[in-house]
Amino acid sequence: MADRRGILIILSSPSGAGKSTLARRLMSWDPTLSFSVSATTREPRPGEREGVEYFFKTHEEFDHMVAQDEMLEHARVFGNSYGTPKAPVEAAMAAGRDTLFDIDWQGGQQIRNSALGKDVVSIFILPPSIAELESRLRTRAQDSDEVIAGRMEKSMSEISHWAEYDYVLVNRDLDVAEAELKTILMAERARRDRQPGLNAFIRSLDEEFENR
Ligand code: 5GP
Repeated sequence: MADRRGILIILSSPSGAGKSTLARRLMSWDPTLSFSVSATTREPRPGEREGVEYFFKTHEEFDHMVAQDEMLEHARVFGNSYGTPKAPVEAAMAAGRDTLFDIDWQGGQQIRNSALGKDVVSIFILPPSIAELESRLRTRAQDSDEVIAGRMEKSMSEISHWAEYDYVLVNRDLDVAEAELKTILMAERARRDRQPGLNAFIRSLDEEFENR
């Protein structure tokens, strides 16, 4: 059991604000981070791999996990169920590793209000403008106007929860947003109450001083 408690870093944003890219960049910057792979009932998109982007479940399997209390949080998003399996998060925390979550505001709220709330650092990513968000949603998907309009509605409802987050980043430039994200993580890790080894370290400094 590590004496340091892992931080739960929650990233939320409307889709199209760059959250997945930023999450990927943070993961490759710090390989000690554990990414929370969610379970979902939605169909895999081309290129998505089981157990990497998501654990793809049937509705029955998903409901069973919820009934067995295996989810840290779960919610309906775009007509599908999404949830965070509890066991990997608990394992990472016990090992003193930080976990990154790419989840919506409902999941963020549930984890913040859980017993793990004090270990949460939550970050909301905003697009620079609605026009930019819409153009990112259009270039990304081959979806119809109706689907895009639905996604824009969802995005606006996600954005309405920005004030529930500890930090808010406006993603005008991916490199800048990435640097800001790393800065937040470094600052949170340096908090006194997140460094339980400090007392022993200060004692060792005192001893070293005495023995000079
Ligand atoms: P997508 O289907 O585009 O991958 O994700 C749709 C939305 O569901 C995104 O906003 C994503 O952050 C959110 N999401 C993904 N996994 C989870 C989860 O485990 N719990 C919750 N509450 N939301 C999730």
